Amino acid sequence: MKERIKEQFKKRFSTDGVIYASAGRINLIGEHTDYNGGFVFPGAIDKYIMAEININGTDKVRVYSMDLDAYCEFGLNEEDAPKDQWARYIFGVCRETIKRGGTVKGFDTVFAGNVPLGAGLSSSAALESCFAFALNDLFNDNRIDKFELAKIGQSTEHNYCGVNCGIMDQFASVFGKKDCLMRLDCRSLEHEYFPFHPEGYKLVLLNSKVKHELVDSPYNKRRESCERVAAMLGVDTLRDATYTMLADIRDKVSDEDYRRARFVIGEKQRVLDVCDALERGDYETVGRCMYETHDGLSRDYEVSCEELDYLNDVARECGVTGSRIMGGGFGGCTINLVKDERYDHFIATAKEKFNAKYGHEPEVINVIISDGAHKEED
Ligand code: ADP
Ligand code: MG
Repeated sequence: MKERIKEQFKKRFSTDGVIYASAGRINLIGEHTDYNGGFVFPGAIDKYIMAEININGTDKVRVYSMDLDAYCEFGLNEEDAPKDQWARYIFGVCRETIKRGGTVKGFDTVFAGNVPLGAGLSSSAALESCFAFALNDLFNDNRIDKFELAKIGQSTEHNYCGVNCGIMDQFASVFGKKDCLMRLDCRSLEHEYFPFHPEGYKLVLLNSKVKHELVDSPYNKRRESCERVAAMLGVDTLRDATYTMLADIRDKVSDEDYRRARFVIGEKQRVLDVCDALERGDYETVGRCMYETHDGLSRDYEVSCEELDYLNDVARECGVTGSRIMGGGFGGCTINLVKDERYDHFIATAKEKFNAKYGHEPEVINVIISDGAHKEED
C-alpha cells in the first residue's frame, strides 16, 4: 500500500511527503459497558489507513482518496466544509484541531486503507486518528496529548459526520500497541495495557454482513433499563452495582430490566477476569468469558440476531476456544479465538453452513494486534 501511495503522491503533487498510518480496532470483551461506567478492552489491528502528506504553503487542503478514486479540495474555515462524506472526516479533524488552539495550514495528501468499511472495525476512527496524529506532528510539534487526539476524532464524528459515538474507537486507534490490548475505564478514562500474543491461536472475525435497521430505539431502551436499575439501587451507574444488590431489588424491577442489569454486572467482571487470565497467558479462560458474553448479549441483553447466534453455534461445534458478537449487536461480526489446528476446519464449516442457511458466505477477516497511530519510518 505504501508504494502505491508514494507513486500516486508523486504523480499528483510532483514531490514527496511524510507518511502516517493509524489502525482499525477490535474489542475483545466489554460490550454495552461504556455508558454504564464500566470497562472496554480494545486493541489496534493490522488493518489501517495510511496517508502521505506534504505542507503546500497555501490555505487549502488538497486530498485524493485512492480507494474511492475521488479528489476534494477545501479551505480551513468552518464554512469550507466539503459535501463528500469521506472528506468531512479529514475536514473535521482539521477543524477540531484548530478549535483546540492547534495550528493547521494547507497540505496535500493521498490516502488509502484496508480496514473493511462499516464492518465494525472502525475504519472511520482509523482515518480520523491518522490525520489527527499527522497534523499534530507536522504543525504542532506533538504538543497535543494523545488522549486529546482521540477526542479530536470523536468530535469529528459528532460535529461533522452525524455519528454520536463514544471514545473507544479513536482511543484504540491512537493508543494501540503491538501485542497489547488496552483496558479503558469508561468512568475515569484511565487505561492500562495487557499482553496479548496468543501463540498457537488465531483471532478471526466473521462478518455476517447483516445490518438490522432501527437499532437506535432498542439501544436507547437498553440504556433506559440500565438507568432505571441504577436509580433504584441508588448508584450513578451499574459500574457500582453487584449481583447481591441486584438480587435485593429483584421484585421491584421488571424481569426485562433485571436481565439487562444482570448482563452489565457480569460483563464488568468478565473484562477484569479476562485481564487476569491474560497476565497468566491463560487463553482458555479468555475464550470461556467470550462465550459467556455472547450468551449474555443474546439472552439477557437481547441484542443478538439469528445469524450471529448461528455463527456462535458453529464456533462451539467446531471447538473454537472463544466466540462472541463484537459491537453493539443486531448484526455485524463475531470475534473468534481459534486454536491453529482448528482454524481451517472452522472457517470452511462456517462458510459452508452459513451459506447454505442464509445464501451468502460470511466475510473472513483475520486480525493481529498491532500498533496504532504512528509515523512510518522510511
Ligand atoms: P466503520 O464502522 O468502518 O467506522 P463508518 O460508516 O463509521 O464505518 O465509516 C466509514 C466511512 O469512513 C466511509 O463511508 C468513508 O467515508 C470513510 N472511510 C473509511 N475508510 C476509507 C477509505 N479507505 N477511503 C476513503 N474513505 C474511507
Ligand atoms: Mg465508524
